[in-house]
Amino acid sequence: MSEPAPTGRPGLLLVNTGDGKGKSTAALGLALRAAGHGLRVVMLQFMKDPDTWHVGEWLAAEHLPSLTIEALGEGFTWEHETLEIDIAAARHAWERCRAVLSDPSVDVAIIDELNYVIDYGFLDIDEVLPSILSRPRHQHVVVTGRNAHPRLVEAADTVTEMRKIKHAFDEGVPAIKGIEF
Ligand code: ATP
Ligand code: MG
Repeated sequence: MSEPAPTGRPGLLLVNTGDGKGKSTAALGLALRAAGHGLRVVMLQFMKDPDTWHVGEWLAAEHLPSLTIEALGEGFTWEHETLEIDIAAARHAWERCRAVLSDPSVDVAIIDELNYVIDYGFLDIDEVLPSILSRPRHQHVVVTGRNAHPRLVEAADTVTEMRKIKHAFDEGVPAIKGIEF
């Protein structure tokens, strides 16, 4: 006898890319929305080192039992001396992503700045894509970062490109608490 057909809609793959501000904050908005419905949301952040950043979303997530945010603490190229160390750090962080992408208790997995890590060549799309595509059927995935790989874009259900019209940084405004971090 064949397996019964799975019920419910399959989870979506969403990609927020482009050179304008809002990729990560849009993912956080989705996280808030999903967590409000009691969905279990895990956001994994490349590029944010907990030793240097104290971002508002980590503090807010402490008030939301269904939202977990984990800084993977890897990916600052300029902090490492060699490419090998960068690649090893990214691969180590990716192991955590893979665990979340195979955990059926996670309803929404957000991998923040994954596009950069692929774009820099620290992770191979051929390694990343199969883990995303073989995730639990109901799980939604959001990937952020500039320069989304064309094959990720092709595989995704919803792709949004943030386009910069202006950014305050260009006028010399530094990163502002509550707006950038
Ligand atoms: P945010 O986290 O604010 O949604 P983002 O995820 O779209 O931004 P990233 O590429 O992750 O953008 O860059 C993170 C930081 O760089 C943020 O502080 C953001 O404000 C800033 N930033 C984003 N786009 C630009 C830009 N075009 N020019 C200058 N700074 C930018
Ligand atoms: Mg971002």
